[in-house]
Amino acid sequence: MNVRKVFGFLSWAVFPPCCPACGRSIARDECLCSGCMADYYPASGQFREAKQLPPDAALYAAAFYTGSMREAVHRMKFSGNPGSAAILAPLLVQALRAGGGRPDDFDLVLPVPSRPKKVRERGYNQSALLAKEVAKRTGIPFSADALLKTRDTRAQHDLTAEERQVNLAGSFSACEAEVSGRRLLLVDDVLTTGATARECVAALKAAGAASVSLLVLAVTSRDGGHDGAGERV
Ligand SMILES: [Zn+2]
Repeated sequence: MNVRKVFGFLSWAVFPPCCPACGRSIARDECLCSGCMADYYPASGQFREAKQLPPDAALYAAAFYTGSMREAVHRMKFSGNPGSAAILAPLLVQALRAGGGRPDDFDLVLPVPSRPKKVRERGYNQSALLAKEVAKRTGIPFSADALLKTRDTRAQHDLTAEERQVNLAGSFSACEAEVSGRRLLLVDDVLTTGATARECVAALKAAGAASVSLLVLAVTSRDGGHDGAGERV
């Protein structure tokens, strides 16, 4: 972890909340400042089909991956701002409720695992931080290790949709004791091509999960390609 990231950790711990997208001070009940809210686009319309998720996997998404949400996700991932997960988490809970999902519908909330190398470098997996915040706010039990990335893979952002799927094949492993027979809520920061989500759902189903739903902060509106750096990197 470098000095910039250490400073990021400290500043988030000591100072009042800042807008995750631009860094301006915000009130404790705000997720973004008013200026960034003007550049925030709630997810709506037909994006689900483009992600080719299994038909029984529900998808809840807060926003489109553009404008202030894109900036907020970038800062959370690349600028050592783990504290922004707690600030942005209410948007996930809102998206879950807006989509008709209730806490009672789920037995376990878990994150999409990051590449082990990235977690070591960054010091955290932003999706795990988001999932933990969702658990805290909904009362759904949380597990950090029910799903693991057991094989390191190439970074996804410079690959085509097809290459992403091949790159990820068989790279996730689920803990049967934790997921078997359970209704799971899988949390991620960004859904780009859906390749990662499909592999995770397959691994969880193979381990006996009763159902897997997906809750993401942001979703790209086009079907994959290179339109987002948000896929697991
Ligand atoms: Zn802002």
